Amino acid sequence: MAYTWEPKWEAVRLESNGIILNTCRDKVTGLIACPICLNAISTCLGKSATHAELKGEVSLFFSIDDLIEHIKNFHTRGLASKLEEIRKRMGETRSD
Ligand SMILES: [Zn+2]
Repeated sequence: MAYTWEPKWEAVRLESNGIILNTCRDKVTGLIACPICLNAISTCLGKSATHAELKGEVSLFFSIDDLIEHIKNFHTRGLASKLEEIRKRMGETRSD
């Protein structure tokens, strides 16, 4: 699929329920990009480019809450099993 729309990224700092995210927002559509999918550091948060073409799959959202849900569901899957592993290990070292 070819994109004809070229986003113009701007750095934004968003906050919701105590969660602060620094990411890129497209000036054209107002859509917020997932900072992990997009690699926000090199796209809009760094010093160099202020706009970049969309490469591959980038998740875009209308609200920070939707973005947080995406990060929880998509990017922290591995963390859940890691936490479980740590919990088990801590349980083993407990004396009770
Ligand atoms: Zn993402």
